[in-house]
Amino acid sequence: MKTIKNIIFVISLLLSSCSKDNDQATSNPKEDIFYLPVVVHIIHNGKPIGEGTNLSNVRIERQIEILNEDFRKKEGTRGYNHHPDGGDAKIEFVLAKQDPDGKPFSGINRIDSTKVIVPDLGHNQNHYAQYAYWNPKDYINIWTTPLPEPSECLVLGLATGPETDLPGTEFFSLPQPGDAEGILINWMHFGESDIACYARFGRTLTHEMGHYLGVLHTWGGGDCENNDYCDDTPAVDKPVYNNPFIGCEGEPVMLNNYMTWSHDETMNMFTNDQIARMHYVLEHHEGRKALLSSHALKP
Ligand SMILES: [Zn+2]
Repeated sequence: MKTIKNIIFVISLLLSSCSKDNDQATSNPKEDIFYLPVVVHIIHNGKPIGEGTNLSNVRIERQIEILNEDFRKKEGTRGYNHHPDGGDAKIEFVLAKQDPDGKPFSGINRIDSTKVIVPDLGHNQNHYAQYAYWNPKDYINIWTTPLPEPSECLVLGLATGPETDLPGTEFFSLPQPGDAEGILINWMHFGESDIACYARFGRTLTHEMGHYLGVLHTWGGGDCENNDYCDDTPAVDKPVYNNPFIGCEGEPVMLNNYMTWSHDETMNMFTNDQIARMHYVLEHHEGRKALLSSHALKP
Protein backbone atom coordinates (compact mmCIF):
# COMPACT_ATOMS: atom_id res chain seq x y z
CA MET A 1 0.00 0.00 0.00
CA LYS A 2 2.18 2.73 -1.13
CA THR A 3 0.08 5.61 -2.02
CA ILE A 4 -3.56 5.87 -2.18
CA LYS A 5 -3.01 6.37 -5.77
CA ASN A 6 -1.38 3.03 -6.11
CA ILE A 7 -4.02 1.35 -4.14
CA ILE A 8 -6.73 2.99 -5.99
CA PHE A 9 -4.85 2.38 -9.14
CA VAL A 10 -5.00 -1.31 -8.54
CA ILE A 11 -8.60 -1.09 -7.79
CA SER A 12 -9.19 1.21 -10.51
CA LEU A 13 -7.55 -0.99 -12.89
CA LEU A 14 -9.86 -3.45 -11.49
CA LEU A 15 -12.61 -0.96 -11.80
CA SER A 16 -13.76 1.05 -14.65
CA SER A 17 -17.01 1.91 -16.43
CA CYS A 18 -20.28 3.63 -17.65
CA SER A 19 -23.39 2.90 -19.68
CA LYS A 20 -24.80 -0.16 -21.05
CA ASP A 21 -25.85 1.11 -24.42
CA ASN A 22 -28.95 2.80 -25.44
CA ASP A 23 -31.63 1.12 -23.42
CA GLN A 24 -30.04 2.32 -20.27
CA ALA A 25 -30.53 6.00 -20.66
CA THR A 26 -34.25 5.56 -20.83
CA SER A 27 -34.54 2.88 -18.20
CA ASN A 28 -35.17 5.28 -15.38
CA PRO A 29 -37.34 8.17 -16.47
CA LYS A 30 -39.02 8.45 -13.10
CA GLU A 31 -38.54 11.37 -10.79
CA ASP A 32 -38.44 9.26 -7.67
CA ILE A 33 -35.52 9.48 -5.32
CA PHE A 34 -33.62 6.33 -4.52
CA TYR A 35 -33.08 6.15 -0.75
CA LEU A 36 -30.26 3.94 0.44
CA PRO A 37 -29.53 3.02 4.07
CA VAL A 38 -25.98 3.18 5.35
CA VAL A 39 -24.38 1.96 8.53
CA VAL A 40 -21.09 3.56 9.53
CA HIS A 41 -18.94 1.19 11.55
CA ILE A 42 -16.47 3.37 13.42
CA ILE A 43 -13.59 1.04 14.22
CA HIS A 44 -11.65 3.07 16.76
CA ASN A 45 -8.74 2.81 19.14
CA GLY A 46 -10.52 3.18 22.44
CA LYS A 47 -10.45 6.96 22.78
CA PRO A 48 -13.59 8.84 23.84
CA ILE A 49 -16.11 9.83 21.19
CA GLY A 50 -14.85 12.82 19.24
CA GLU A 51 -11.16 12.04 19.77
CA GLY A 52 -8.90 10.61 17.10
CA THR A 53 -10.25 7.55 15.34
CA ASN A 54 -13.48 7.67 17.35
CA LEU A 55 -15.04 10.31 15.12
CA SER A 56 -17.75 12.58 16.50
CA ASN A 57 -21.39 12.19 15.59
CA VAL A 58 -21.31 15.66 14.09
CA ARG A 59 -18.49 14.74 11.75
CA ILE A 60 -20.19 11.51 10.70
CA GLU A 61 -23.52 13.20 10.11
CA ARG A 62 -21.85 15.97 8.14
CA GLN A 63 -20.14 13.36 5.96
CA ILE A 64 -23.48 11.84 5.04
CA GLU A 65 -24.81 15.32 4.35
CA ILE A 66 -21.88 15.98 1.99
CA LEU A 67 -22.58 12.70 0.26
CA ASN A 68 -26.13 13.84 -0.34
CA GLU A 69 -25.08 17.30 -1.49
CA ASP A 70 -22.85 15.65 -4.06
CA PHE A 71 -25.29 13.02 -5.29
CA ARG A 72 -28.16 15.50 -5.41
CA LYS A 73 -26.07 18.33 -6.92
CA LYS A 74 -27.41 20.67 -4.31
CA GLU A 75 -27.25 24.35 -5.03
CA GLY A 76 -25.16 26.42 -2.66
CA THR A 77 -22.87 23.50 -1.79
CA ARG A 78 -19.57 22.21 -3.13
CA GLY A 79 -21.56 19.53 -4.90
CA TYR A 80 -23.20 21.93 -7.32
CA ASN A 81 -21.97 22.50 -10.88
CA HIS A 82 -23.11 24.30 -14.01
CA HIS A 83 -21.81 21.76 -16.46
CA PRO A 84 -24.38 20.78 -19.13
CA ASP A 85 -23.65 17.09 -18.54
CA GLY A 86 -23.66 17.32 -14.76
CA GLY A 87 -26.67 15.62 -13.23
CA ASP A 88 -28.64 15.19 -10.04
CA ALA A 89 -28.28 11.48 -9.31
CA LYS A 90 -31.53 11.45 -7.35
CA ILE A 91 -29.92 9.12 -4.86
CA GLU A 92 -29.94 9.93 -1.15
CA PHE A 93 -28.23 8.17 1.70
CA VAL A 94 -29.88 7.70 5.04
CA LEU A 95 -28.16 6.71 8.28
CA ALA A 96 -29.87 3.45 9.13
CA LYS A 97 -32.85 3.94 11.43
CA GLN A 98 -33.00 0.35 12.57
CA ASP A 99 -30.34 -2.13 13.58
CA PRO A 100 -30.44 -5.70 12.23
CA ASP A 101 -32.85 -6.67 15.02
CA GLY A 102 -35.27 -3.91 14.08
CA LYS A 103 -34.43 -1.75 17.06
CA PRO A 104 -34.18 2.05 16.71
CA PHE A 105 -30.67 2.97 15.68
CA SER A 106 -28.52 6.01 14.93
CA GLY A 107 -26.77 4.54 11.90
CA ILE A 108 -23.45 4.76 13.75
CA ASN A 109 -21.92 1.58 15.14
CA ARG A 110 -18.86 2.17 17.32
CA ILE A 111 -16.44 -0.64 17.96
CA ASP A 112 -13.37 -0.44 20.18
CA SER A 113 -10.76 -2.38 18.24
CA THR A 114 -8.56 -2.66 21.32
CA LYS A 115 -11.17 -4.93 22.89
CA VAL A 116 -11.95 -7.12 19.91
CA ILE A 117 -9.06 -9.22 18.70
CA VAL A 118 -9.37 -10.39 15.11
CA PRO A 119 -6.93 -12.05 12.72
CA ASP A 120 -5.02 -9.65 10.48
CA LEU A 121 -6.46 -10.13 7.01
CA GLY A 122 -4.88 -6.98 5.61
CA HIS A 123 -6.47 -3.70 4.63
CA ASN A 124 -9.63 -4.97 2.97
CA GLN A 125 -13.34 -5.38 3.57
CA ASN A 126 -13.00 -8.93 4.87
CA HIS A 127 -10.70 -7.75 7.61
CA TYR A 128 -12.98 -5.00 8.90
CA ALA A 129 -16.04 -7.19 8.49
CA GLN A 130 -14.71 -9.24 11.37
CA TYR A 131 -15.64 -6.36 13.66
CA ALA A 132 -19.06 -5.83 12.16
CA TYR A 133 -20.78 -6.70 8.94
CA TRP A 134 -24.46 -6.20 8.45
CA ASN A 135 -26.55 -7.75 5.70
CA PRO A 136 -25.50 -5.89 2.53
CA LYS A 137 -29.03 -6.24 1.18
CA ASP A 138 -30.24 -4.10 4.07
CA TYR A 139 -27.28 -1.78 4.62
CA ILE A 140 -24.40 -0.23 2.77
CA ASN A 141 -21.57 -1.11 5.14
CA ILE A 142 -19.06 1.68 5.56
CA TRP A 143 -16.10 1.12 7.83
CA THR A 144 -13.81 3.89 9.02
CA THR A 145 -10.45 2.30 9.45
CA PRO A 146 -8.13 3.21 12.35
CA LEU A 147 -4.98 3.49 10.29
CA PRO A 148 -1.92 5.22 11.75
CA GLU A 149 -1.39 8.91 11.05
CA PRO A 150 1.39 8.43 8.49
CA SER A 151 -1.25 6.95 6.20
CA GLU A 152 -2.85 10.38 5.89
CA CYS A 153 -3.20 11.41 2.26
CA LEU A 154 -1.74 8.07 1.17
CA VAL A 155 -4.47 5.58 1.93
CA LEU A 156 -7.91 7.02 1.34
CA GLY A 157 -10.61 4.51 0.54
CA LEU A 158 -11.66 1.30 -1.14
CA ALA A 159 -14.96 -0.05 -2.40
CA THR A 160 -16.22 -3.32 -3.74
CA GLY A 161 -18.13 -3.07 -6.99
CA PRO A 162 -21.41 -4.59 -8.12
CA GLU A 163 -21.44 -7.51 -10.54
CA THR A 164 -23.89 -6.77 -13.33
CA ASP A 165 -23.98 -7.10 -17.11
CA LEU A 166 -22.80 -3.51 -17.54
CA PRO A 167 -19.66 -3.22 -19.65
CA GLY A 168 -16.51 -2.80 -17.61
CA THR A 169 -17.84 -4.70 -14.62
CA GLU A 170 -14.72 -6.82 -14.72
CA PHE A 171 -12.68 -3.82 -13.70
CA PHE A 172 -14.32 -3.59 -10.30
CA SER A 173 -13.09 -5.23 -7.17
CA LEU A 174 -15.78 -7.91 -7.19
CA PRO A 175 -16.40 -9.84 -3.99
CA GLN A 176 -16.12 -13.59 -4.31
CA PRO A 177 -18.54 -15.90 -2.49
CA GLY A 178 -18.07 -15.37 1.22
CA ASP A 179 -16.35 -12.01 0.81
CA ALA A 180 -17.66 -8.87 2.48
CA GLU A 181 -19.05 -6.00 0.42
CA GLY A 182 -18.74 -2.40 1.40
CA ILE A 183 -16.61 0.69 1.60
CA LEU A 184 -13.49 1.41 3.63
CA ILE A 185 -12.55 4.99 4.41
CA ASN A 186 -9.41 5.97 6.27
CA TRP A 187 -10.77 7.77 9.34
CA MET A 188 -8.72 10.88 8.60
CA HIS A 189 -10.51 11.28 5.29
CA PHE A 190 -14.02 10.66 6.54
CA GLY A 191 -15.97 13.93 6.72
CA GLU A 192 -14.51 17.41 6.78
CA SER A 193 -11.34 18.36 8.61
CA ASP A 194 -8.40 20.73 8.39
CA ILE A 195 -5.78 18.10 7.67
CA ALA A 196 -2.97 19.11 5.34
CA CYS A 197 -4.19 17.00 2.47
CA TYR A 198 -6.18 17.57 -0.69
CA ALA A 199 -8.72 15.00 0.51
CA ARG A 200 -10.29 16.79 3.44
CA PHE A 201 -13.80 17.68 2.34
CA GLY A 202 -15.44 14.28 2.43
CA ARG A 203 -15.19 13.43 -1.26
CA THR A 204 -13.40 10.16 -0.68
CA LEU A 205 -16.74 8.67 0.26
CA THR A 206 -18.47 10.25 -2.72
CA HIS A 207 -15.92 8.65 -5.03
CA GLU A 208 -16.05 5.24 -3.37
CA MET A 209 -19.83 5.29 -3.31
CA GLY A 210 -19.69 5.90 -7.06
CA HIS A 211 -17.76 2.66 -7.42
CA TYR A 212 -20.10 0.83 -5.04
CA LEU A 213 -22.98 1.83 -7.29
CA GLY A 214 -21.27 0.80 -10.51
CA VAL A 215 -19.29 3.75 -11.86
CA LEU A 216 -15.70 3.34 -12.99
CA HIS A 217 -12.89 5.87 -12.99
CA THR A 218 -13.18 8.12 -16.04
CA TRP A 219 -10.20 6.26 -17.54
CA GLY A 220 -11.79 2.91 -16.67
CA GLY A 221 -9.91 0.09 -18.29
CA GLY A 222 -7.18 2.47 -19.41
CA ASP A 223 -7.86 2.44 -23.10
CA CYS A 224 -9.19 5.14 -25.40
CA GLU A 225 -11.89 2.92 -26.87
CA ASN A 226 -13.10 1.30 -23.69
CA ASN A 227 -12.60 3.51 -20.71
CA ASP A 228 -15.57 4.25 -18.51
CA TYR A 229 -18.39 3.41 -20.95
CA CYS A 230 -19.90 6.85 -20.45
CA ASP A 231 -20.16 8.95 -23.60
CA ASP A 232 -20.43 12.21 -21.72
CA THR A 233 -17.08 11.94 -19.94
CA PRO A 234 -14.20 12.83 -22.27
CA ALA A 235 -12.32 9.65 -23.19
CA VAL A 236 -9.05 9.24 -21.34
CA ASP A 237 -6.74 6.27 -21.07
CA LYS A 238 -4.78 7.13 -17.95
CA PRO A 239 -5.44 8.38 -14.44
CA VAL A 240 -6.60 11.94 -14.00
CA TYR A 241 -5.16 13.71 -11.00
CA ASN A 242 -5.71 17.37 -10.35
CA ASN A 243 -3.84 18.54 -13.44
CA PRO A 244 -5.45 19.35 -16.76
CA PHE A 245 -4.41 17.58 -19.92
CA ILE A 246 -5.89 16.68 -23.26
CA GLY A 247 -7.62 13.33 -23.48
CA CYS A 248 -8.00 10.78 -26.27
CA GLU A 249 -10.24 12.86 -28.51
CA GLY A 250 -8.51 16.20 -28.23
CA GLU A 251 -10.64 17.61 -25.47
CA PRO A 252 -9.60 18.44 -21.92
CA VAL A 253 -10.15 15.68 -19.39
CA MET A 254 -12.93 16.21 -16.85
CA LEU A 255 -10.97 17.21 -13.78
CA ASN A 256 -14.02 17.97 -11.70
CA ASN A 257 -15.57 14.53 -12.06
CA TYR A 258 -15.93 12.63 -8.79
CA MET A 259 -14.56 9.53 -10.49
CA THR A 260 -11.09 11.00 -10.92
CA TRP A 261 -8.30 11.41 -8.39
CA SER A 262 -8.63 15.18 -8.34
CA HIS A 263 -8.65 17.22 -5.16
CA ASP A 264 -11.77 17.34 -3.05
CA GLU A 265 -12.20 21.03 -3.75
CA THR A 266 -12.02 20.44 -7.50
CA MET A 267 -14.59 17.67 -7.79
CA ASN A 268 -18.25 18.52 -8.16
CA MET A 269 -19.96 16.34 -10.71
CA PHE A 270 -21.35 13.05 -11.86
CA THR A 271 -22.44 13.05 -15.48
CA ASN A 272 -25.83 11.89 -16.70
CA ASP A 273 -24.32 8.73 -18.17
CA GLN A 274 -22.59 7.92 -14.91
CA ILE A 275 -25.89 8.42 -13.15
CA ALA A 276 -27.58 6.14 -15.66
CA ARG A 277 -25.15 3.40 -14.67
CA MET A 278 -25.96 3.86 -11.00
CA HIS A 279 -29.66 3.67 -11.71
CA TYR A 280 -29.15 0.57 -13.79
CA VAL A 281 -27.33 -1.05 -10.88
CA LEU A 282 -30.07 -0.06 -8.44
CA GLU A 283 -32.65 -1.59 -10.73
CA HIS A 284 -30.80 -4.75 -11.75
CA HIS A 285 -28.30 -5.80 -9.10
CA GLU A 286 -30.06 -8.01 -6.59
CA GLY A 287 -28.23 -6.73 -3.52
CA ARG A 288 -28.23 -3.04 -4.40
CA LYS A 289 -31.86 -3.15 -5.44
CA ALA A 290 -32.81 -4.78 -2.15
CA LEU A 291 -31.46 -1.75 -0.29
CA LEU A 292 -34.36 0.30 -1.62
CA SER A 293 -36.82 -1.68 0.47
CA SER A 294 -34.63 -2.19 3.53
CA HIS A 295 -36.30 -2.11 6.92
CA ALA A 296 -33.41 0.13 8.01
CA LEU A 297 -34.98 3.03 6.11
CA LYS A 298 -38.02 2.99 8.33
CA PRO A 299 -38.15 4.61 11.77
ZN1 LIG B 1 -11.50 4.92 -7.32
